[in-house]
Formats: sequence, structure tokens, C-alpha cells
Amino acid sequence: MFRTRFAPSPTGPLHLGHAYSALLAYDMAVAAHGEFLLRIEDIDQSRSRPAWETQIYEDLKWLGLSWPEPVMRQSERLEAYADALDDLWSRGLLYECTCRRADIAAAAAAPQEGAPMFGPDGIVYPGTCRDQAARTGPRPKNAVLRLDMARALADMAGLSFDETGVNPAHVNLSAQEILRSVGDVVLARREMGTSYHLSVVLDDAAQGITHVVRGADLFEATQIHVVLQSLFRLPTPVYHHHRLIRDGNGKRLAKRDDARAIALYRNEGKSVSEIRSLTTG
Ligand code: GLU
Repeated sequence: MFRTRFAPSPTGPLHLGHAYSALLAYDMAVAAHGEFLLRIEDIDQSRSRPAWETQIYEDLKWLGLSWPEPVMRQSERLEAYADALDDLWSRGLLYECTCRRADIAAAAAAPQEGAPMFGPDGIVYPGTCRDQAARTGPRPKNAVLRLDMARALADMAGLSFDETGVNPAHVNLSAQEILRSVGDVVLARREMGTSYHLSVVLDDAAQGITHVVRGADLFEATQIHVVLQSLFRLPTPVYHHHRLIRDGNGKRLAKRDDARAIALYRNEGKSVSEIRSLTTG
């Protein structure tokens, strides 16, 4: 079954960019006689608010979307994330990182390192803790855990995914390039017990998503997701990264751009077809 999803974080109002993404995922599912699912990405409990979640449901219903219940909420999936981390830990693929942000920036900028490399998660980790941290015994809890990317990639060949969005292609990934430009990503954050990358991969698989529709800003992160799918022997969905909706100055919309919140258009009496034309114009 062809299945898409919209996966917002309840950390602010949905704006036109979200409307575009949700409508596109919905329209693609309808056209393929498939299913459109909703998932609430609320692992960041310090920023997620029930009121924003309620407003997400209201905005999406107003846009004419519907989805099967119950809605998956990441805050209810912490056990699945912990099990996956236990699995990687027992395979020696994770290590605890005790670096502070400033330590990482300083180490990455050290003269022998050359200019720091920026990947999908910011500065590529220079590896300070990689060889020092113990990897045996119980998995450290409430700790920052990084994936040992070199080890993770050791037995992997032929990593790739199909992209149908802005630049359609069969994208072949190179292990060497992933090591250089992504490195040892964080899979468990302190306080959170998981990370965006880990959760999104496990949840897309658990929901049987065949086509991931999302903004082009997440294209670079997809290589991390493909590595994780390979580690967990999960299928790789087709990815459709769409263009980003920008404001009048060409700046991409952010949650703080309340002026473009769907709720405000709604209160002004705009119609859904007007919203559709605003996002396609
Ligand atoms: N929760 C993410 C966001 O709101 C979307 C993640 C995804 O679509 O993979 O930006």
C-alpha cells in the first residue's frame, strides 16, 4: 500500500510551508489510492506543547485532510527507541560522548584538522570520545550516544535511495563521503533518550511509510536515515523532498514567522483553495 505521512513537531504554529508539505503528501496518497498518516514528533519535551498539538489537528482538518486514528506520537514510543539503542550498543556501534558544544568546535578547528566540516547536524564530530569511551557493560542512560560511523559502514555496500522530488534521481551513497561529511552522528540525546534521526527511521518503518514527503532541507539527512535502515534491516522508502516555501524576501519560513501561520489565514477568512494557490504560486 502506498503510504505517506506528515510529521510535524508541536513546537509552534504550522505555517504555509507545513500546509504545502501536508497537502502534497495527502494529494500524493489520494492519487495513488493509498493512505496518508499523521505523526506527532514530540520527542523534544522541553519545546513541545499540548496546545500546539491541538492546533495542528485543527489546522489540518481545516485544510481538508483526514488520517487514520490513533495518531502515532513519538513521546509514546520511547521503549522502541531504547530497544533500538540497546541493539546498537550490544553490537559495539555506539559510544558515549561527553564533549560540550564548545569542545567540539575547538577540536574541529584545531590546526591539524583543517577547516571544520559541516554536515546535516552541524560540525562533523572530530572523534574525541570515540576511542576513550567504554563500549562494554550496560548502555549508559541519560547520556549522549554517538554512532561509530566507520564501524557502522564497515559491512555495508551499495547504499542508495530513490528520490522523486526536486532533483529526481537514484541517489548512490558513498561510505567514504558519509564518513567525511556526516561522521559520528548523535543517536541519543541527553534528556531525550533518542534523536530525530533514530526516531524518524524507526517510526517511518513502524508506520509502513512507502513515500516520505518532506522539505528539501532534510535531503542531506537522508543518508543518515539510509544507514540506519541498513543497520536495522528496515526497508528504505522512496523520498520526495519538495521545494521550500519562502517569504517575500526569499527567506525560508520558520515557526517563528507567525505572520504566515495557517491559523491566521483561517481567522482572516481565507479559503483552502487560496492557501493552495499561495503555496503553489
Ligand atoms: N518533525 C520534522 C519537522 O517538523 C519533520 C521530519 C521529517 O519529515 O522527516 O521538521
